[in-house]
Amino acid sequence: MTVNNPKIEAPVLHLIGEEADRLGLECYVIGGWVRDLFLHRPSDDIDVVVVGSGISLAEAVAKRLGKGAHIAVFKTYGTAQVKHKGMELEFVGARRESYRRDSRNPIVEDGTLEEDQNRRDFTINAMAICLNKHSYGELLDPFDGIGDLERCIIKTPLDPDITFSDDPLRMMRAIRFATQLGFNLDGETFDAIARNKERIGIITKERIAEELNKIMLSRRPSEGWILLDKTGLLPLIFPELAALKGVEVKEGRGHKDVFYHTLKVLDNVANLSPALSSREGDKLENRVLWLRWAALLHDIGKPRSKAWDPQAGWTFRNHNYIGAKMVPKIFARLKLPLNEKMEYVRKMVDLHMRPINLIEDTVTDSAVRRLLFEAGDDIDDLMLLCDADITSRNEQKVERYHRNYQLVRQKMVELEERDRIRNFQPPVNGDEIMAMFHLEPCSLVGELKAAVKDAILDGVIPNERDAAIQYINELWQKKQK
Ligand code: ATP
Ligand code: MG
Repeated sequence: MTVNNPKIEAPVLHLIGEEADRLGLECYVIGGWVRDLFLHRPSDDIDVVVVGSGISLAEAVAKRLGKGAHIAVFKTYGTAQVKHKGMELEFVGARRESYRRDSRNPIVEDGTLEEDQNRRDFTINAMAICLNKHSYGELLDPFDGIGDLERCIIKTPLDPDITFSDDPLRMMRAIRFATQLGFNLDGETFDAIARNKERIGIITKERIAEELNKIMLSRRPSEGWILLDKTGLLPLIFPELAALKGVEVKEGRGHKDVFYHTLKVLDNVANLSPALSSREGDKLENRVLWLRWAALLHDIGKPRSKAWDPQAGWTFRNHNYIGAKMVPKIFARLKLPLNEKMEYVRKMVDLHMRPINLIEDTVTDSAVRRLLFEAGDDIDDLMLLCDADITSRNEQKVERYHRNYQLVRQKMVELEERDRIRNFQPPVNGDEIMAMFHLEPCSLVGELKAAVKDAILDGVIPNERDAAIQYINELWQKKQK
């Protein structure tokens, strides 16, 4: 079959073919780019497989592209990368692979195109399109990848038990592609993951985290976590999340299944993501990603805080606090970043009950100010998470919550306009307090500072310098009596 798609007519692809012809090399565009061509997904990464030396073709192509092209050669791997106008061209020699039991790094030898296609992870990722002039645009699809694209199936080209045992990372990739593309796992492929799940132990945490982040950025991230659970991988890679599963019933009273509730909240946050915009110095994708992690972890402390109270039934006191304390440990183990991104997730988990408690109580200005103060610039994200957290089968309850939630938001806007609490800096600092009363650094300075902060947040005095100085003077005088 010859592919009939305008993208295959891109000048750069013709140029690669011409250079290959000149060098007498067979070459094909292969893998993700071909798959995404048929799925009409955008992709800037083009993988080119060459029967022979990928490096020599890359060098010839870079030369033809001229000044705008940058080439990086990786001799040990026999690969080369050419960057040109936002595109990444990856050149690799066709290869055959054989695996040892204890490592996902194969023994690699030069091979034919067919052997190269055999080592690919899924049928939809094994398709190649010829770039040589004599059969330009011809599709080589030995495993009916096109059929699987139509059927929306993720399936290994060869025996799935061997494919997954050889390189267990492919189990994560299978679930990630299913989630990203909205596909199903083929039955045999699914069963083989379940059988080979323990092999995930030889994969580095960093590679797993990469796949998890891609799952998290998909349209419905819950699908990935459900597949991880159903295949049995979940407790192996993320036991704290697996621990959220199940419902305990006592005296006829149960509680929400926290795992499925969490996944609903995660999908809700994913649906609400378009409401987020990028902030200075941070990419939008980052904000979207870490808010989703916050959603996934918002109730992670529930199993450890669960208790039975004969009157109240099941309680989860302080689960937000316990959960927040778990966040750094979970991030460290999953090899997620331990920087301000972790700190953001920790804060979201810690504060996630606060807006809803406001809704349940009478909304005082003071409580709203305190929340604005603690959440700072992350207040909008927190409110979005909180909105997403409203899940109940009782529609009236959900409606009432959403209504009250709007009231709280309205109040926040009003108070923020008036008092500018969000980026609140105390109008009088510790040095000034020490100078005012000729004090050495001591606990009294801290006490006075805290008192001013509380007075402002409680609305006793306005968020202004003069008022703050007067208030401190009065406090000082009282203390002297
Ligand atoms: P994306 O870049 O969107 O993640 P992709 O399919 O391009 O998707 P890459 O990781 O860039 O994925 O890999 C490029 C190609 O290399 C894949 O399409 C697949 O053919 C092959 N491949 C990548 N990783 C593996 C693996 N672990 N086992 C077998 N084949 C793989
Ligand atoms: Mg790719």
